[in-house]
Amino acid sequence: MNIHEYQARQLFEKFGVATTKSGVATTPEEAVAVAEKLSSKEFVVKAQIHAGGRGKGTFTNGFKGGVHITSSIEEVRKIAGQMLGQTLVTHQTGPEGKLVSTILVAEPATIAKELYFAILLDRASGAPVIIASTEGGVDIESVAEHTPEKIFREHIHPTLGLQPYQTRKVAKKLGLVGAQINAASKLFSAMFRLFLARDCSQIEVNPLVITDKGELLALDAKFNFDDNALYRQPEIVAMRDKSEEDPREVAASEYSLNYIGLDGNIACLVNGAGLAMATMDIIQYAGGKPANFLDVGGGASKDQVTAAFKIILGDPNVKGILVNIFGGIMDCNIIATGILAAAKEVSLNIPLVVRLEGNNVEAGKKTLAESGLAVIGANDLADAADKIVAAVKKAA
Ligand code: GDP
Ligand code: MN
Repeated sequence: MNIHEYQARQLFEKFGVATTKSGVATTPEEAVAVAEKLSSKEFVVKAQIHAGGRGKGTFTNGFKGGVHITSSIEEVRKIAGQMLGQTLVTHQTGPEGKLVSTILVAEPATIAKELYFAILLDRASGAPVIIASTEGGVDIESVAEHTPEKIFREHIHPTLGLQPYQTRKVAKKLGLVGAQINAASKLFSAMFRLFLARDCSQIEVNPLVITDKGELLALDAKFNFDDNALYRQPEIVAMRDKSEEDPREVAASEYSLNYIGLDGNIACLVNGAGLAMATMDIIQYAGGKPANFLDVGGGASKDQVTAAFKIILGDPNVKGILVNIFGGIMDCNIIATGILAAAKEVSLNIPLVVRLEGNNVEAGKKTLAESGLAVIGANDLADAADKIVAAVKKAA
């Protein structure tokens, strides 16, 4: 799960990570009110979307830049008017862009140097790792490509945590001196406390800046949270902005389905993550492209199967469906009745191939056969993949 920058700043404030003063607005009038309250000479106005690269982005109305600095409150109003309700396209949003419904108005920092600082979970070592660089404010991917020697890592021991010598070491590598080293140590430790306490999988601050006065401030932040820990993170769950997420995935999560939207045209409904992966592979092998990963799990209810099928049918890219059930725990007849229930609500006018095997398979097959639905049966996985790819090609 992701959050907006303004929400990241709320977490920073709570955990003592230094950042600039700011407020949020959803109308130009609110933006003016925030600016007046800040009572600074300049203001930075920032579009809030779940994507980076905003500074260099362009709105579909032609307005350039999702991050603006201005010295006049009237300009704040104008910029807010150009951003709110508009779609911002950045290199991370894809060409369709993202709708801006909230903006952040902040007191700008006077930047002497931009740095990069991130904490994330390193799968290779099974521990959190700090990734930092003297090259902040730019794409870290391009730093990694052109000047990898300017990026350094510091692993954090999973039980000992981040040690003071480590924060000082990172600060020195970032070129910090004197009192900045203590300020950096404090900021990095606070960030790591936040990382642990809120079950983050990533906190990326780009840029972390040194101001003209030598202060250290986090100016931008991107967070990722471990979805499996959300049950114990009510504060984070409350920050979820569903309008930023794939609507198919939002619907799936409401029914506890493991669903990931993809860009092919053959939808899959499978029980078990391994079988779902194999199904996607074999669709590719047969010359098709999967429209999703969907694992309904071993103990799916009829309602879950119905919901899954409706999500699939609601996706305009889907031109065919492959149901692949190898019922060990899963009752094949529950799958069949779920499919029927969904097909009653949403008309099924695309090819459907069903391969059922295992627990209560005869009842499942009977339910489908008596339903009057145009189901194409399949004997095994390879047969099912060939049949759906052929049916979709024929229908096109
Ligand atoms: P991103 O483009 O989505 O990563 O948004 P950022 O918040 O990182 O802003 C982009 C760039 O705008 C930063 O790299 C800075 O160069 C600049 N910027 C952002 N906030 C401030 C600020 O408070 N003061 C100044 N001087 N520049 C800022
Ligand atoms: Mn940034």
